[in-house]
Amino acid sequence: MNACPKWREELIDHALGGLPAAALQAHLATCAGCSEALEAWRRKAAQIDTGVQQLIAAEPRAQGPERVLTQIQRSPVKPFYGRVALAALMLTVSLVGYGTLHLALSNSIVTALGSRSFAEESAALGGKIL
Ligand SMILES: [Zn+2]
Repeated sequence: MNACPKWREELIDHALGGLPAAALQAHLATCAGCSEALEAWRRKAAQIDTGVQQLIAAEPRAQGPERVLTQIQRSPVKPFYGRVALAALMLTVSLVGYGTLHLALSNSIVTALGSRSFAEESAALGGKIL
């Protein structure tokens, strides 16, 4: 794994993702030492990437929520959109609340009427159902 000293720096750049110059590509086609060195450096770069990713995943970000709040405060939200979003949120909450209340009342009525048969219910309503 001995790279030619002339190409060493360009080989490392290429191993780290840089595009090779045409001259380097031509050299790699004929030089086994540089080709082996390139592959070895690519493997090491991949190992380093994996290690860095593992470190990032393992270590919790310091002051994460504070950073999110800072980003939200910095983001240029126009007041109009903010009011529309708030109105949409309130409407959603109202509809969900109404739906829940309606469902609860329906269940209560069904439970209260559950002891009667359909014919009894129909008779109680003056036979209008049947
Ligand atoms: Zn070489």
